[in-house]
Amino acid sequence: MERTLSIIKPDGVGKNIIGEVIKRFETNGIKIAAMKMIHLSKSQAQGFYAVHKERPFFDSLTDFMTSGPIVVMVLEGEDVIAKNRTLMGATNFKEAEEGTIRREYATDIEKNVVHGSDAPETAAFEIGYFFNELELHSR
Ligand code: GDP
Repeated sequence: MERTLSIIKPDGVGKNIIGEVIKRFETNGIKIAAMKMIHLSKSQAQGFYAVHKERPFFDSLTDFMTSGPIVVMVLEGEDVIAKNRTLMGATNFKEAEEGTIRREYATDIEKNVVHGSDAPETAAFEIGYFFNELELHSR
């Protein structure tokens, strides 16, 4: 059993597709082990995306991530890191597979609706950034 962090970004929350995203997880056998809605401060967004701090889009990305509330979730299931990445689609929605979340709902390489951890180490850091052990519910 594996865990990953999923975020519905401010554009996804703004588009009123929280349920649509969650439905895709649940219909694909993924369980939600934790969930909450939060509004990140700039420094919280910078901390979350610290690996990208040298990238030219870091300031813009962290501004976007603080532009409205987000939904953070811990997803659980077999091979869930890769499964979630498949359901999300490529970072650039123009290159994302037909039927993926980003292909259907993203409008921009930055405003791409969802985040998902890309490896077990990043998943552990990202889950710990938002949740403590008492908030995680394996089912
Ligand atoms: P992800 O793992 O698919 O989310 O992609 P990355 O880890 O490479 O990038 C993190 C996030 O930064 C992406 O989801 C986008 O929101 C944003 N991003 C990535 N590449 C670019 C870019 O070239 N320009 C801008 N403005 N944002 C980007």
